[in-house]
Amino acid sequence: MSQLSEIKCPVCGKWCEWTCKIDEKCPNCDTLLDPGRFHYAEERRMNAERDKKNSELFLKDTNDPILLMIKQFILWLRWTTFYGVSVIVFIVAIMIVLYGLAMI
Ligand SMILES: [Zn+2]
Repeated sequence: MSQLSEIKCPVCGKWCEWTCKIDEKCPNCDTLLDPGRFHYAEERRMNAERDKKNSELFLKDTNDPILLMIKQFILWLRWTTFYGVSVIVFIVAIMIVLYGLAMI
């Protein structure tokens, strides 16, 4: 979904058509029309990449197989905590319903 609007170029001050894309540039002076948003998106992308690299490094410098297993478990725990909590809440809700049915 792209929405056409006009934006004033921050450098040359000319109004140009803008489709709200993050990396859109001014046709007159080739400057990013929305540098703030572009840098924010770039920063987020870099953070995600750094996190991924950290996880890889975290596992890489391990020679002890037991320590490696523990580290893999820690990473697994980190990524599944959120989903795990949701699943537990769901299971508890089902158990409450089943318990209620059994009491009838
Ligand atoms: Zn411009």
